[in-house]
Amino acid sequence: EAKAPSNFIRQIIDRDLAEGKNDGRVVTRFPPEPNGYLHIGHAKSICLNFGIAESYGGACHLRFDDTNPEKEEDEYIQSIQRDVEWLGFEWAGPVRFASGYFDQLHDYAVQLIEKGLAYVDTQSPEKIAEMRGNFTTPGQDSPFRDRSVEENKALFAKMRAGDFDEGEAVLRARIDMTSPNLTLRDPVLYRIRKKAHHQTGDKWVIYPMYDFTHPLSDAIEGITHSLCTLEFEEHRPLYDWLIEHLDVPAEPRQYEFARLNLNFTVTSKRRLKLLVDEGHVDGWDDPRMPTLSGLRRRGYTPASIRNFCDNLGVSRADSVIDMSLLEEAVRDDLNQNAPRAFCVLKPLKLVIENWPEDQEEWLRAPLHPQNEAMGSREMPLTREVYIDREDFREEANKKYKRLVLGDRVRLRYGYVVRAESVVRDDAGEIVEVRCSYDPDTLGKNPQNDEGQGKMRGVIHWVSARHGLPCRVRLYDRLFDVANPARVAEGESFLDHLNPDSLRVLEGCVVEPRLDGVPAETRYQFEREGYFCVDRDSGADGLVFNRTVGLRESWPR
Ligand code: ATP
Ligand code: MG
Ligand code: MG
Repeated sequence: EAKAPSNFIRQIIDRDLAEGKNDGRVVTRFPPEPNGYLHIGHAKSICLNFGIAESYGGACHLRFDDTNPEKEEDEYIQSIQRDVEWLGFEWAGPVRFASGYFDQLHDYAVQLIEKGLAYVDTQSPEKIAEMRGNFTTPGQDSPFRDRSVEENKALFAKMRAGDFDEGEAVLRARIDMTSPNLTLRDPVLYRIRKKAHHQTGDKWVIYPMYDFTHPLSDAIEGITHSLCTLEFEEHRPLYDWLIEHLDVPAEPRQYEFARLNLNFTVTSKRRLKLLVDEGHVDGWDDPRMPTLSGLRRRGYTPASIRNFCDNLGVSRADSVIDMSLLEEAVRDDLNQNAPRAFCVLKPLKLVIENWPEDQEEWLRAPLHPQNEAMGSREMPLTREVYIDREDFREEANKKYKRLVLGDRVRLRYGYVVRAESVVRDDAGEIVEVRCSYDPDTLGKNPQNDEGQGKMRGVIHWVSARHGLPCRVRLYDRLFDVANPARVAEGESFLDHLNPDSLRVLEGCVVEPRLDGVPAETRYQFEREGYFCVDRDSGADGLVFNRTVGLRESWPR
């Protein structure tokens, strides 16, 4: 596997190691909040954090950043672990939870109070927000800013005991209400939430804020490099303030990098959840979703996602990445690694008139034409086969490299056939093409070429008797604008859902070898694209999801 290219964070680590910092340890963490499924943006953070741990012989922790009991669920905790493992990463030690540190965090809060660095504010949340000021106006001190240590300790104990209602009191750091950095204007450290927590049950009614929890959890775990996205840059002074003023076991440092944004989709759990909750998609793992579970179901491989992320690089410049880069990554992987199969998406019967009724011949075909080591497959050729409707025309100019009445094509890995006539139904639609085959053309060119009609090309086919009926889902972009997250005033990203993002083809026919293959098996359907077996496959037949076409095809 190729080593990830260097980036500014790796350079910082190299420098730290050269200076002997952290006793030569490199410990990172991936800290999702369990309030949704992971998406492709998270994959960037995962590849960065776990990738660094891998290449420096360090460790990467998986820590659920679970300080918000309202929005979090066990389903998300399970899916996040599954997705990280699926990508091929292993976290060091147990799965960790910020909620596992609630006792320690509480003690740190008391420590701050004792140092005169935190106070209980009993103003209303509205008042606190108002007095915080904004970018142009400095904040104003709370009238409760100078309570005594003893009073603050007593009030904080009352908060913890449940003697206040939600919104009646908060614990704030005592920093600087005039700081140009709003994060430092006496940030709230603890708030009251009378909600059961998925990990700690009813034990707590006060919950620490992210900005308090994160640096201290990092310190507790001995994280050396705490990597987060750019929107946390202005929180860094608070991160450092807490590490500096508390008696912590380690001194982690925060570094920020740019988020991954992809066009034609949204990478925000809040928006993705809305798509799920309002039924615009079939769930978090709908193959149109940019979630890791959606991409997986779509047919993406872990390697393709890792390569995509590694090749993006890591910088501090925000940008929007073209969806076609992600598609190219999976196409590259599947082109090399997916076995080939024949599937006819829009079947048209082809009857070989000079082929005896019950003769069947098993033809050998490579599983991968460029990689003999993958081995071969066998396909039965019978008198009746299906070809794709788009591979036959009664008349066509010479650019059409498929079957035309009076002309010839090769049935791939089989014989050369010539179209002789068509059969129509009452409505005049062609329901059958009648042809003849030349028995002397298996693996070789026709000998007698005079007056046989043009040899136009090679098409795929499936035996009508042996082929398996199947259903194929063709996916397109979920949104019809490049940046659905930034639509005009008064519009919602939901107004830009692409109504044709899913097209289902019924009655397709796939080669019999695929009988019973498990979900998530991936193929290149020759001449059609890359497809993946869906878990909806069953007694009613196989269901395939198109991962991506054979080549870039946007805009159509
Ligand atoms: P969302 O806005 O989708 O809820 P989040 O940042 O709130 O994203 P978290 O669960 O807190 O989601 O994210 C866990 C980690 O993944 C964080 O370190 C976060 O910075 C990182 N991350 C989230 N989205 C992206 C993204 N688009 N690109 C890179 N990293 C991301
Ligand atoms: Mg977050
Ligand atoms: Mg979030």
